[in-house]
Amino acid sequence: MALHFIANTAARSTSGQTLPVIDPANGETFDTLARGNATDIDAAVTAARHCLDTTWARFTAAERGRLLMKLSAKVAEHADELTALEQRDCGKPVKQARADALALVRYFEFYAGAGDKLHGETIPYLDGYSVLTWREPHGVTGHVIPWNYPMQIFGRSVGGALAAGNVCVVKPSEDACLSLLRVAALAAEVGFPAGAINIVTGYGHEVGDALARHPGIDHISFTGSPRVGTLIQQAAAERHCPVTLELGGKGPQILFDDADVDAALPFIVNAIVQNSGQTCSAGSRLLVQRGIYESALQRVGEAFTALRAGPPAMDLDLGPLIRQSQQDRVRGFLDQARADGIATVAQGRVADEAAASGFYAAPTLLRDVPVDHRLAQEEVFGPVLSGMAFDDEDDAVQLANATPFGLVAGVWTRDGARQFRMARRVRAGQVFVNNYGAGGGVELPFGGVKSSGHGREKGFEALYGFTTLKTVAFRHG
Ligand code: NAD
Repeated sequence: MALHFIANTAARSTSGQTLPVIDPANGETFDTLARGNATDIDAAVTAARHCLDTTWARFTAAERGRLLMKLSAKVAEHADELTALEQRDCGKPVKQARADALALVRYFEFYAGAGDKLHGETIPYLDGYSVLTWREPHGVTGHVIPWNYPMQIFGRSVGGALAAGNVCVVKPSEDACLSLLRVAALAAEVGFPAGAINIVTGYGHEVGDALARHPGIDHISFTGSPRVGTLIQQAAAERHCPVTLELGGKGPQILFDDADVDAALPFIVNAIVQNSGQTCSAGSRLLVQRGIYESALQRVGEAFTALRAGPPAMDLDLGPLIRQSQQDRVRGFLDQARADGIATVAQGRVADEAAASGFYAAPTLLRDVPVDHRLAQEEVFGPVLSGMAFDDEDDAVQLANATPFGLVAGVWTRDGARQFRMARRVRAGQVFVNNYGAGGGVELPFGGVKSSGHGREKGFEALYGFTTLKTVAFRHG
């Protein structure tokens, strides 16, 4: 049974209640999980506060960095174990689960080296004054994490917060806790003091809500759906607690008629197939200039036809979706597309070896999706790519920006001036020109505009968000 991790100790839920842990590859329960509540959150916040006020306050930035570096090395040593845990818990193909474990190694490494480079400024001011700024940690930071990339999001969020001098209370998704509980135990082994990293598992409306409302939480980093992001921000607003929101996306891949289609093709496919399309930054809309619309759709369609979803251990293009309701959601979108006369260009298939009770979805390419259709507006969070044609640059910009989201966009063109114009005009937190995702870049600030959220994680920029700036003015004559 998986337990909470509070003050470096595995702890049962005070209610004694549990939740099932389900294998997405076959729908079977293979473990149980502590079902936390507000009392458990309170215990975690108390442990975190005690750590902050005692041991953690004595760690210098360099010492925090050394600890994070040890943790990075420890995670690397345990990469196989973490890969296996994530594969089972989240249904990820082996290569994706491994990539997540290795990204976690890199996040801890990056923030290990960054924390002691974070400093304030001196400001020229009136005669007889010296003014300086200090970057101080918020204190006890709360981290609410989704199920799609638990290790990566833990790495960027908790890694950055710890490097900046905070202590953490983490609420992972009820669908994906196992790897993070193991990482927290590894952190204790390398010397993180009790209370620096605490994890409380359970449902969002119970544990997540209690975390968002707890008066002892000084900052919340939330990654998840726009709906829950709103709830978190409302709860935090009651006590003016700062919040970073990393929400959803409806990423456009914009393919101009002068693009190198051969180079673009694997990126276009991967951007919607990776993690079975359960990626906030998925490229879920394919906008193609009209002159090459038919030929491009045909080529992407051929690639889709060759794709296979199957058991994680087979390490195919896609694994199962995370849970039954996610499978139902993807089916619902496709049923609606059919009912509304939206044509399917191509579909991959689910491997014969996949259990019928697993939560699989075949990757699907649709065409001529109207801009105001749900499929062009809402996150499917599954392997469904919506094709749309555009005429010129203005049309492309309008379509690209015509959703409530603004997280990530891809632009494919050989025209250098157009590359710059498009990068400026598309409203998104990240724009990739002649690539998509740039390999995930731990160093690259990440976050959204509009309903994709606000604040930035990843890169050095995240450290500003995990600190607050104090201005100190000395009057000395
Ligand atoms: P979700 O919003 O349902 O859940 C996210 C987390 O919030 C989970 O831990 C959940 O238990 C918790 N939660 C649920 N209800 C809550 C409540 N009432 N109060 C407090 N916490 C609550 O999202 P999900 O389904 O786990 O993940 C998918 C979503 O996450 C997608 O919208 C995706 O785009 C987004 N996402 C965004 C990023 C990013 O960096 N922008 C990264 C990954 C995922």
